[in-house]
Amino acid sequence: MKKQPHVVWFKRDLRITDHAPLLAASQQGAPIIPLYIIEPGYWRQSFASRRHWHYVHDCLVDLNEALTGLGQPLVIKIGTACDVFMKLSQEYSIIKIWAHEETGNRWTYDRDIAVHSTCAMNGITIHELPSNGVVRRLGNRDNWSAIRNARMAERILPRPVALQTVADYQSVDLPSKVDPMFGETSIGHVQKGGRNAAVEDLTSFLGYRSRAYLQHISAPNLSEVHCSRLSTHLTWGALSVREVIQSISKRRTQLNSDSSKHFSRNLSAFGSRLAWRCHFIQKIEDQPEIETHCMHPAFEGLRVDEHNETYFQAWATGNTGYPFIDACMRNLAAEGWITFRMRAMLVSFASYQLWLDWRITGDHLACLFTDYEPGIHYSQLQMQSGVTGINAMRVYNPIKQSQEHDPTGSFIRKWVPELRSITDESIHEPWEIKASLFGNSGALEGYPSPVVDHVVSAKRAKERITKVRNSPLFRTTAATVHQKLGSRKLSVRRKKKLPVKEENQLTLI
Ligand SMILES: Cc1cc2nc3c(=O)[nH]c(=O)nc-3n(C[C@H](O)[C@H](O)[C@H](O)COP(=O)(O)OP(=O)(O)OC[C@H]3O[C@@H](n4cnc5c(N)ncnc54)[C@H](O)[C@@H]3O)c2cc1C
Repeated sequence: MKKQPHVVWFKRDLRITDHAPLLAASQQGAPIIPLYIIEPGYWRQSFASRRHWHYVHDCLVDLNEALTGLGQPLVIKIGTACDVFMKLSQEYSIIKIWAHEETGNRWTYDRDIAVHSTCAMNGITIHELPSNGVVRRLGNRDNWSAIRNARMAERILPRPVALQTVADYQSVDLPSKVDPMFGETSIGHVQKGGRNAAVEDLTSFLGYRSRAYLQHISAPNLSEVHCSRLSTHLTWGALSVREVIQSISKRRTQLNSDSSKHFSRNLSAFGSRLAWRCHFIQKIEDQPEIETHCMHPAFEGLRVDEHNETYFQAWATGNTGYPFIDACMRNLAAEGWITFRMRAMLVSFASYQLWLDWRITGDHLACLFTDYEPGIHYSQLQMQSGVTGINAMRVYNPIKQSQEHDPTGSFIRKWVPELRSITDESIHEPWEIKASLFGNSGALEGYPSPVVDHVVSAKRAKERITKVRNSPLFRTTAATVHQKLGSRKLSVRRKKKLPVKEENQLTLI
């Protein structure tokens, strides 16, 4: 007679604490197969990269160790999810598959639909439980915030005490970090992954790094220390967002003295961002098309037919001739993370000054960001490209940003060594000295001349976007977009004219 196990399918929830499907399955009194499926089809997609795999690899090592401690190691399979479940169901009489509701991108959405239909045809039940603050089949956005906050206040689920083992389970070996299945391109540094690293980062952030969080949130050289750096851990589920939120509350109760007010203010700003996180992921849950279509259809087709590959390559390799832009891109390529402001500026420059389509630049960035999170990523790409139709157009001036955030040019010199010997005053616009020394011909010691005139190209881009915004049908459709995807909280704030404090790094829609 075939064994009758429950299967717990791990996806982007690579932990055992606060893991509702694992806990529920462990309480059923039957053996458990904790399963991770490596799907080669996923890793071939244009948004997936070896950098992501490096991080996931670390998580799987930790997860396996934790599960082994409970009595049943992780089972790893390679193939399409449908095939893996079909094969498992030939070996075992699966009682139920348990998983979190995943809000990912179109690929994972289609994969989940296929798995559901395969299982339905084969009489296998799948039981999915909510993940984070995202509400599946949300009827009305007005209720979302209350549901999300209630979920965040629920108790953190303990890890299971033990798992009944499936003695004869078969697992493939964990492929190495450099396995060609995950892409050939070389990558730079990757943030250490896994539960242990995630808990360390959370502890050090709440303990001391957050003290200067708001002060350095946009500083290119300091943000990597003073921002939480939890995004990657949250993306791949080494931590649950509820765990982080409840850890903030605990920390704030410890910080009661006056001298801690400043600390506490930083923690509330951090907490707001975790709410934004859920807000943006809810958007893609409600409207998966935002990965591929402009939120406001009037902007569809605006840039895509005018793609300029030379501009794209200059931007993607950090060779636009704008030192601060290039330093940010090279920093990101080397380390897989950059702060919010610099991400926004990179996209704005690509979308306005270089008139590149956000879907093309978005894939490039998705591969570089270790924390690629579809809900945040596509919403932000669209916002910074001016195609949502709701929020204000924000065109960054790369020279002003450079002067403001890297006044002495130390960040530029670190990442654009060609400019190492340029003075602090000239480093933001090195072509000025080039012109004074050599006239307008020739590059500066191997560093390119600006790929476009940023003032002229920004002006042209603004005119084109404004023309669309002034078209007759634009406003009616914008109201519909807001009804479907917009944040209710900030509408209230606007009505009451409350001051917008730390939220000013972006306008939520
Ligand atoms: C074009 C663009 C693309 C982006 N793509 C991603 C992405 O793929 N994955 C991702 O996690 N973040 C993305 N962000 C948002 C933001 O830049 C990162 O979350 C942040 O820099 C991560 O660093 P941290 O964890 O130290 O953030 P902290 O400042 O410490 O913030 C704490 C957490 O709040 C959330 N958060 C912070 N800022 C935002 C925001 N503006 N919107 C929504 N949630 C936020 C993240 O989960 C983050 O881990 C993107 C921003 C832009 C402009």
